[in-house]
Amino acid sequence: MQKRTKIVATLGPATERPKTLRKLIDAGLDVARLNFSHGSADEHRARAAAVRKASDDCGREVGLLGDLQGPKIRVKRFKKGSVELKDGASFFLDSTLGYEEGSKKGVGVALDTIHEDVEPKDILLLNDGMITLQVESIEGTRIHTTVVNGGILSDHKGINKKGGGLSAPALTDIDKENILLAAELEMDFLAVSFVRTAADIEEARRLFRDAGGSGLIVAKIERTEAVDNIDVIIDAADVIMVARGDLGVEMGYARLTGIQKSLIRKTRKARKVVITATQMMESMILNPIPTRAEVSDVSNAVMDGSDAVMLSGETAVGKHPIKAVRAMAEVCTGAEQFPLPHGRTRHRLGDYFERVDEAIAMAVMYTANHLDVKAIFALTESGSTALWMSRIRSDIPIYAFTPHAATSRRVTMYRGVGPIHFDTEATNSREVYQDVFDIMLARGLVAVGDRVIFTKGDLHGVSGGTNAMKIVEITEKS
Ligand code: PGA
Ligand code: MN
Repeated sequence: MQKRTKIVATLGPATERPKTLRKLIDAGLDVARLNFSHGSADEHRARAAAVRKASDDCGREVGLLGDLQGPKIRVKRFKKGSVELKDGASFFLDSTLGYEEGSKKGVGVALDTIHEDVEPKDILLLNDGMITLQVESIEGTRIHTTVVNGGILSDHKGINKKGGGLSAPALTDIDKENILLAAELEMDFLAVSFVRTAADIEEARRLFRDAGGSGLIVAKIERTEAVDNIDVIIDAADVIMVARGDLGVEMGYARLTGIQKSLIRKTRKARKVVITATQMMESMILNPIPTRAEVSDVSNAVMDGSDAVMLSGETAVGKHPIKAVRAMAEVCTGAEQFPLPHGRTRHRLGDYFERVDEAIAMAVMYTANHLDVKAIFALTESGSTALWMSRIRSDIPIYAFTPHAATSRRVTMYRGVGPIHFDTEATNSREVYQDVFDIMLARGLVAVGDRVIFTKGDLHGVSGGTNAMKIVEITEKS
């Protein structure tokens, strides 16, 4: 039984060695995430090359996702590296304070306009919500606060405002440099952090395309503003990431699960792709097995309809990166075996299709879910037919046959879709089918006599040209 849900894993010091990468791929890694918040350009170049090499060695396609740092608002540094904030103490934040001048009294902030974004009674959350400050008054650039929940605050920790509203623009100068790097490394996915509006996505896409990048654009939903603007953001992006870390800090963790479910539903309805991210197997940073709560979290994300689930620290810095991917893969497969509550027939029956390839994809899924079909074979240029099909819930494997490496790597994120490299000289359809059968029989993925559905276009090499479906039985080479 192959898993349908895809696994994105963040690479870091724990997953650098070629042998570890190969083991991660064998354990079920589909997309490797490079986090531009850490490491130099040359380190990213080396990691990207190592992923491509390991993917070749394993004979399995792996997508590459570059995650922009974004305008994470951070405190500057402390004279002594950190301070302990006691409950009830006074503490100030001031963007004009020197870079290394932080003390028990207050610290600098790397956002010049932060004093314009807050007012008395606002709650500021530092270090992923571990420390809470309440704003008392604002005096020039200085924000006076009282410590509500104290703790150790160290250099460069992040700041969020409860309810959102810190006004940093989405793409920083560093992000713009990293977009060029992502294009250079032919990244399959570019993730934009702290998105507020559709315009943020459009700008990132324009810069990426201008630099020659062809990958899909991922909008990370981690701000209140993004949740408020979700419909236009889904429209503008190719992939949505439910970035539960920062989102949970800004919106409060109690509503997070509901927001997750609604983001997944909306994204799939719009025929886009969705990743559920952050702290999914957090305890595996230290432990060799997940907690039951984590198992349940991953299972629910799968049952909600996520295309992919993501690992961050678990694989970047954890003690058990391979076990984390393996455990996640097992949980995905386990969760996928449960029938879905909403049956299989009524999907999109009320919809009107704008595109021929979409109409074909929907007809295929309707047929596949009502006839004994073992697999779906999509001969595809851009992968879009496979994407449309994978928006419909089904347990029938979808294989995307394509001559293009970029398409093969893109479908690594689509639930239920497996990439197969396929290039043929054959012109007659019967010969094309037989070439496909031979590949699939050799891989043991189908058997002679299995019924499968093909989708294809009349013209080779034309994107969006799928206009036919054909139901055939697998035959042996004549
Ligand atoms: P990050 O984004 O890991 O880049 O912070 C994910 C999140 O906030 O959940
Ligand atoms: Mn984040």
